[in-house]
Amino acid sequence: MAASWSLGGALRGMFQRATIDETTWEQLEDALIGADFGPDLADQLVEELRGQVARFRTTDPADLQRMLREALEERFARLDPTLTLSARPAVVLVVGVNGVGKTTTIGKFAKFLTNHGRSVLVGAADTFRAAAVEQLATWAERASATIVRPQQPGQDPASVAFQAVESAQRDGVEIVLIDTAGRLQTKSGLMDELSKVRRVVEKLSPIAEVLLVLDATTGQNGLAQAEAFIEHAGVTGLVLTKLDGSAKGGFVLAVQEKTGIPIKLVGQGEGISDLTGFNPTAFVAQLVG
Ligand code: GDP
Ligand code: GDP
Ligand code: MG
Repeated sequence: MAASWSLGGALRGMFQRATIDETTWEQLEDALIGADFGPDLADQLVEELRGQVARFRTTDPADLQRMLREALEERFARLDPTLTLSARPAVVLVVGVNGVGKTTTIGKFAKFLTNHGRSVLVGAADTFRAAAVEQLATWAERASATIVRPQQPGQDPASVAFQAVESAQRDGVEIVLIDTAGRLQTKSGLMDELSKVRRVVEKLSPIAEVLLVLDATTGQNGLAQAEAFIEHAGVTGLVLTKLDGSAKGGFVLAVQEKTGIPIKLVGQGEGISDLTGFNPTAFVAQLVG
Protein backbone atom coordinates (compact mmCIF):
# COMPACT_ATOMS: atom_id res chain seq x y z
CA MET A 1 0.00 0.00 0.00
CA ALA A 2 1.36 3.41 -0.94
CA ALA A 3 1.97 5.75 1.97
CA SER A 4 -0.17 8.89 1.92
CA TRP A 5 2.91 11.08 1.55
CA SER A 6 4.11 9.17 -1.51
CA LEU A 7 4.58 11.09 -4.74
CA GLY A 8 3.33 7.97 -6.54
CA GLY A 9 -0.14 9.31 -7.35
CA ALA A 10 1.04 12.74 -8.46
CA LEU A 11 3.81 11.27 -10.61
CA ARG A 12 1.94 8.33 -12.09
CA GLY A 13 0.52 10.33 -15.02
CA MET A 14 3.98 11.69 -15.78
CA PHE A 15 5.70 8.31 -15.75
CA GLN A 16 2.96 6.79 -17.91
CA ARG A 17 3.50 9.24 -20.74
CA ALA A 18 5.46 8.09 -23.78
CA THR A 19 8.15 10.75 -23.67
CA ILE A 20 9.82 13.52 -21.67
CA ASP A 21 8.79 17.03 -22.76
CA GLU A 22 7.76 20.39 -21.27
CA THR A 23 4.56 18.85 -19.85
CA THR A 24 6.75 16.39 -17.94
CA TRP A 25 8.72 19.18 -16.26
CA GLU A 26 5.56 21.08 -15.34
CA GLN A 27 4.01 17.94 -13.86
CA LEU A 28 7.19 17.17 -11.94
CA GLU A 29 7.45 20.68 -10.51
CA ASP A 30 3.76 20.63 -9.50
CA ALA A 31 4.14 17.23 -7.86
CA LEU A 32 7.22 18.35 -5.90
CA ILE A 33 5.56 21.56 -4.71
CA GLY A 34 2.37 19.66 -3.86
CA ALA A 35 4.45 17.30 -1.71
CA ASP A 36 5.92 20.32 0.11
CA PHE A 37 9.50 20.16 -1.07
CA GLY A 38 9.26 23.96 -1.11
CA PRO A 39 9.81 26.12 -4.22
CA ASP A 40 13.63 26.33 -3.86
CA LEU A 41 14.22 22.63 -3.65
CA ALA A 42 11.58 21.84 -6.29
CA ASP A 43 13.37 24.25 -8.68
CA GLN A 44 16.79 22.81 -7.92
CA LEU A 45 15.60 19.26 -8.49
CA VAL A 46 13.88 20.09 -11.78
CA GLU A 47 16.98 21.92 -13.07
CA GLU A 48 19.28 19.11 -11.99
CA LEU A 49 17.11 16.47 -13.68
CA ARG A 50 16.67 18.52 -16.84
CA GLY A 51 20.47 18.67 -17.09
CA GLN A 52 20.80 14.92 -16.64
CA VAL A 53 18.07 14.06 -19.11
CA ALA A 54 19.79 16.30 -21.69
CA ARG A 55 23.21 14.82 -20.96
CA PHE A 56 22.01 11.23 -21.30
CA ARG A 57 19.80 12.09 -24.31
CA THR A 58 16.94 10.03 -22.91
CA THR A 59 13.23 10.48 -23.59
CA ASP A 60 12.17 7.56 -21.40
CA PRO A 61 10.18 8.58 -18.29
CA ALA A 62 11.45 5.43 -16.54
CA ASP A 63 14.99 6.89 -16.71
CA LEU A 64 13.69 10.11 -15.20
CA GLN A 65 12.07 8.20 -12.34
CA ARG A 66 15.37 6.47 -11.57
CA MET A 67 17.26 9.80 -11.78
CA LEU A 68 14.78 11.40 -9.39
CA ARG A 69 15.23 8.53 -6.95
CA GLU A 70 19.01 8.84 -7.14
CA ALA A 71 18.97 12.63 -6.79
CA LEU A 72 16.86 12.37 -3.62
CA GLU A 73 18.98 9.55 -2.16
CA GLU A 74 22.14 11.53 -2.80
CA ARG A 75 20.70 14.53 -0.94
CA PHE A 76 19.52 12.49 2.02
CA ALA A 77 22.90 10.74 2.24
CA ARG A 78 24.67 14.05 2.92
CA LEU A 79 23.71 13.83 6.61
CA ASP A 80 24.09 10.92 9.01
CA PRO A 81 20.78 9.80 10.59
CA THR A 82 22.43 7.69 13.32
CA LEU A 83 21.48 8.50 16.91
CA THR A 84 24.43 8.92 19.27
CA LEU A 85 23.44 7.01 22.38
CA SER A 86 26.70 5.44 23.55
CA ALA A 87 27.27 7.64 26.65
CA ARG A 88 26.07 6.25 30.00
CA PRO A 89 23.70 7.59 30.75
CA ALA A 90 22.85 8.88 27.29
CA VAL A 91 20.74 11.96 27.96
CA VAL A 92 18.21 12.92 25.29
CA LEU A 93 16.30 16.20 25.48
CA VAL A 94 13.07 16.36 23.46
CA VAL A 95 11.86 19.82 22.39
CA GLY A 96 9.31 21.44 20.09
CA VAL A 97 6.09 23.45 19.94
CA ASN A 98 2.80 22.28 21.50
CA GLY A 99 1.09 19.22 20.13
CA VAL A 100 3.76 18.08 17.67
CA GLY A 101 4.10 14.71 19.40
CA LYS A 102 6.97 15.09 21.89
CA THR A 103 5.43 13.01 24.67
CA THR A 104 4.12 10.35 22.28
CA THR A 105 7.55 10.11 20.64
CA ILE A 106 9.19 9.63 24.02
CA GLY A 107 6.74 6.83 24.82
CA LYS A 108 7.39 5.05 21.54
CA PHE A 109 11.14 5.60 21.73
CA ALA A 110 11.29 4.31 25.32
CA LYS A 111 9.44 1.17 24.21
CA PHE A 112 11.79 0.67 21.26
CA LEU A 113 14.81 0.97 23.56
CA THR A 114 13.49 -1.33 26.31
CA ASN A 115 12.56 -3.88 23.60
CA HIS A 116 16.24 -3.80 22.69
CA GLY A 117 17.28 -4.48 26.27
CA ARG A 118 18.17 -0.92 27.29
CA SER A 119 17.07 0.48 30.63
CA VAL A 120 15.23 3.78 30.24
CA LEU A 121 14.23 6.60 32.57
CA VAL A 122 11.92 9.40 31.46
CA GLY A 123 12.01 12.82 33.08
CA ALA A 124 8.74 14.77 33.25
CA ALA A 125 10.18 18.25 32.78
CA ASP A 126 6.91 19.40 31.23
CA THR A 127 5.76 20.81 34.57
CA PHE A 128 3.47 23.38 33.00
CA ARG A 129 0.33 21.19 33.04
CA ALA A 130 -0.33 18.44 35.59
CA ALA A 131 -1.95 16.32 32.86
CA ALA A 132 1.33 16.30 30.95
CA VAL A 133 3.02 14.39 33.75
CA GLU A 134 0.22 11.80 33.85
CA GLN A 135 0.36 11.37 30.07
CA LEU A 136 4.08 10.67 30.25
CA ALA A 137 3.59 8.32 33.22
CA THR A 138 1.13 6.24 31.19
CA TRP A 139 3.60 5.92 28.33
CA ALA A 140 6.42 5.08 30.76
CA GLU A 141 4.40 2.24 32.19
CA ARG A 142 3.59 0.81 28.76
CA ALA A 143 7.26 1.07 27.80
CA SER A 144 8.60 -0.45 31.07
CA ALA A 145 10.55 2.73 31.78
CA THR A 146 10.91 4.46 35.14
CA ILE A 147 9.78 8.04 35.55
CA VAL A 148 11.04 10.99 37.55
CA ARG A 149 8.21 13.41 38.27
CA PRO A 150 8.18 16.95 39.64
CA GLN A 151 7.95 17.02 43.43
CA GLN A 152 5.50 19.86 43.28
CA PRO A 153 3.34 21.31 40.51
CA GLY A 154 5.09 23.93 38.45
CA GLN A 155 8.55 22.93 39.66
CA ASP A 156 11.40 24.42 37.64
CA PRO A 157 11.80 22.13 34.59
CA ALA A 158 15.59 22.43 34.89
CA SER A 159 15.43 21.00 38.36
CA VAL A 160 13.27 18.00 37.28
CA ALA A 161 15.71 17.34 34.43
CA PHE A 162 18.57 17.51 36.90
CA GLN A 163 16.90 15.05 39.24
CA ALA A 164 16.14 12.67 36.36
CA VAL A 165 19.79 12.53 35.28
CA GLU A 166 20.96 12.27 38.88
CA SER A 167 18.61 9.35 39.48
CA ALA A 168 19.77 7.56 36.30
CA GLN A 169 23.40 7.98 37.32
CA ARG A 170 22.69 6.63 40.79
CA ASP A 171 20.73 3.60 39.55
CA GLY A 172 22.84 2.85 36.46
CA VAL A 173 20.00 3.51 34.00
CA GLU A 174 21.36 3.60 30.43
CA ILE A 175 19.13 6.11 28.63
CA VAL A 176 17.37 9.24 29.94
CA LEU A 177 14.61 10.82 27.83
CA ILE A 178 13.55 14.27 29.02
CA ASP A 179 10.12 15.59 28.04
CA THR A 180 9.69 19.36 27.93
CA ALA A 181 6.72 21.69 27.71
CA GLY A 182 5.71 22.81 24.24
CA ARG A 183 6.69 26.36 23.54
CA LEU A 184 6.28 28.77 20.69
CA GLN A 185 9.58 29.52 19.09
CA THR A 186 8.73 33.24 19.30
CA LYS A 187 8.54 33.34 23.13
CA SER A 188 12.05 34.22 24.14
CA GLY A 189 11.51 33.63 27.88
CA LEU A 190 10.51 30.05 27.21
CA MET A 191 13.38 29.55 24.81
CA ASP A 192 15.75 30.78 27.54
CA GLU A 193 14.19 28.20 29.84
CA LEU A 194 15.36 25.50 27.42
CA SER A 195 18.90 26.86 27.47
CA LYS A 196 18.70 26.67 31.23
CA VAL A 197 17.58 23.01 31.18
CA ARG A 198 20.63 22.27 29.05
CA ARG A 199 22.98 24.20 31.29
CA VAL A 200 21.72 22.55 34.45
CA VAL A 201 21.80 19.00 33.04
CA GLU A 202 25.32 19.59 31.76
CA LYS A 203 26.48 20.07 35.35
CA LEU A 204 25.99 16.30 35.62
CA SER A 205 26.40 14.87 32.15
CA PRO A 206 26.93 15.91 28.55
CA ILE A 207 23.71 15.84 26.52
CA ALA A 208 23.83 13.06 23.92
CA GLU A 209 21.03 14.30 21.67
CA VAL A 210 18.64 17.26 21.53
CA LEU A 211 15.76 16.10 19.36
CA LEU A 212 13.44 18.68 17.81
CA VAL A 213 10.04 17.21 17.04
CA LEU A 214 8.28 18.59 13.95
CA ASP A 215 4.76 17.76 12.81
CA ALA A 216 4.91 16.85 9.10
CA THR A 217 1.36 18.13 8.52
CA THR A 218 2.45 21.71 9.33
CA GLY A 219 4.70 21.77 6.29
CA GLN A 220 6.77 24.86 5.66
CA ASN A 221 5.79 26.54 8.97
CA GLY A 222 7.89 23.84 10.61
CA LEU A 223 10.95 25.50 9.11
CA ALA A 224 10.46 28.69 11.10
CA GLN A 225 10.04 26.62 14.26
CA ALA A 226 13.19 24.66 13.49
CA GLU A 227 15.37 27.73 13.07
CA ALA A 228 14.52 29.24 16.47
CA PHE A 229 14.96 25.96 18.33
CA ILE A 230 18.26 25.32 16.61
CA GLU A 231 19.46 28.70 17.78
CA HIS A 232 18.41 28.23 21.41
CA ALA A 233 18.43 24.53 22.13
CA GLY A 234 21.44 23.18 20.22
CA VAL A 235 19.36 20.68 18.23
CA THR A 236 21.30 17.59 17.05
CA GLY A 237 18.51 15.68 15.32
CA LEU A 238 14.99 16.04 13.96
CA VAL A 239 11.99 13.80 14.60
CA LEU A 240 9.22 13.99 11.99
CA THR A 241 5.84 12.92 13.33
CA LYS A 242 2.41 12.40 11.77
CA LEU A 243 3.77 11.33 8.40
CA ASP A 244 0.83 8.89 8.39
CA GLY A 245 -1.60 11.81 8.11
CA SER A 246 0.44 13.92 5.73
CA ALA A 247 0.64 14.24 1.97
CA LYS A 248 3.86 16.15 2.44
CA GLY A 249 6.74 13.70 2.31
CA GLY A 250 8.85 16.33 0.57
CA PHE A 251 8.92 18.41 3.74
CA VAL A 252 11.26 15.80 5.18
CA LEU A 253 13.98 16.72 2.72
CA ALA A 254 13.18 20.44 2.70
CA VAL A 255 13.65 20.73 6.45
CA GLN A 256 16.84 18.70 6.47
CA GLU A 257 18.38 20.79 3.67
CA LYS A 258 17.39 24.12 5.20
CA THR A 259 18.62 23.28 8.69
CA GLY A 260 21.59 21.04 7.92
CA ILE A 261 20.39 18.79 10.74
CA PRO A 262 19.60 15.13 10.05
CA ILE A 263 16.26 13.48 10.54
CA LYS A 264 16.83 10.67 13.01
CA LEU A 265 13.37 9.32 13.82
CA VAL A 266 10.06 9.17 11.99
CA GLY A 267 6.60 8.78 13.56
CA GLN A 268 3.82 7.30 11.47
CA GLY A 269 0.94 6.75 13.85
CA GLU A 270 -0.30 7.01 17.42
CA GLY A 271 0.53 3.43 18.39
CA ILE A 272 3.49 2.50 20.57
CA SER A 273 5.31 0.77 17.69
CA ASP A 274 4.74 3.56 15.13
CA LEU A 275 8.25 4.99 15.32
CA THR A 276 11.24 4.03 13.22
CA GLY A 277 14.77 5.19 12.67
CA PHE A 278 15.11 7.22 9.50
CA ASN A 279 16.16 5.07 6.54
CA PRO A 280 16.74 7.35 3.51
CA THR A 281 16.76 4.56 0.91
CA ALA A 282 13.50 3.03 2.11
CA PHE A 283 12.00 6.49 2.42
CA VAL A 284 12.90 7.50 -1.13
CA ALA A 285 11.65 4.17 -2.49
CA GLN A 286 8.27 4.85 -0.89
CA LEU A 287 8.28 8.50 -1.91
CA VAL A 288 9.07 8.04 -5.59
CA GLY A 289 7.69 4.52 -6.06
P1 GDP B 1 3.29 17.13 22.58
O1 GDP B 1 2.43 18.28 23.02
O2 GDP B 1 4.34 17.59 21.63
O3 GDP B 1 3.85 16.35 23.72
O4 GDP B 1 2.37 16.15 21.72
P2 GDP B 1 1.67 14.76 22.15
O5 GDP B 1 2.71 13.69 22.24
O6 GDP B 1 0.82 14.98 23.32
O7 GDP B 1 0.82 14.46 20.84
C1 GDP B 1 -0.19 15.33 20.37
C2 GDP B 1 -1.16 14.52 19.52
O8 GDP B 1 -0.52 14.05 18.33
C3 GDP B 1 -1.69 13.27 20.21
O9 GDP B 1 -3.05 13.13 19.93
C4 GDP B 1 -0.88 12.14 19.58
O10 GDP B 1 -1.56 10.90 19.61
C5 GDP B 1 -0.70 12.65 18.18
N1 GDP B 1 0.50 12.08 17.51
C6 GDP B 1 1.77 12.07 17.92
N2 GDP B 1 2.59 11.45 17.02
C7 GDP B 1 1.79 11.06 16.00
C8 GDP B 1 2.03 10.39 14.74
O11 GDP B 1 3.16 10.03 14.35
N3 GDP B 1 0.94 10.18 13.95
C9 GDP B 1 -0.33 10.58 14.32
N4 GDP B 1 -1.32 10.33 13.49
N5 GDP B 1 -0.58 11.22 15.47
C10 GDP B 1 0.46 11.45 16.30
P1 GDP C 1 19.88 30.61 37.04
O1 GDP C 1 18.45 30.55 37.46
O2 GDP C 1 20.04 31.27 35.71
O3 GDP C 1 20.77 31.16 38.13
O4 GDP C 1 20.34 29.09 36.76
P2 GDP C 1 20.94 27.97 37.72
O5 GDP C 1 21.96 27.23 36.92
O6 GDP C 1 21.38 28.54 39.02
O7 GDP C 1 19.72 27.01 37.97
C1 GDP C 1 18.60 27.42 38.65
C2 GDP C 1 17.58 26.32 38.84
O8 GDP C 1 17.97 25.11 38.21
C3 GDP C 1 17.40 26.01 40.31
O9 GDP C 1 16.34 26.76 40.84
C4 GDP C 1 17.11 24.56 40.30
O10 GDP C 1 15.73 24.38 40.10
C5 GDP C 1 17.83 24.01 39.06
N1 GDP C 1 19.16 23.48 39.49
C6 GDP C 1 20.37 24.01 39.21
N2 GDP C 1 21.34 23.29 39.79
C7 GDP C 1 20.73 22.28 40.44
C8 GDP C 1 21.19 21.25 41.28
O11 GDP C 1 22.39 21.10 41.53
N3 GDP C 1 20.24 20.39 41.79
C9 GDP C 1 18.91 20.53 41.50
N4 GDP C 1 18.03 19.66 42.03
N5 GDP C 1 18.44 21.53 40.73
C10 GDP C 1 19.33 22.39 40.24
MG1 MG D 1 3.77 16.65 25.75
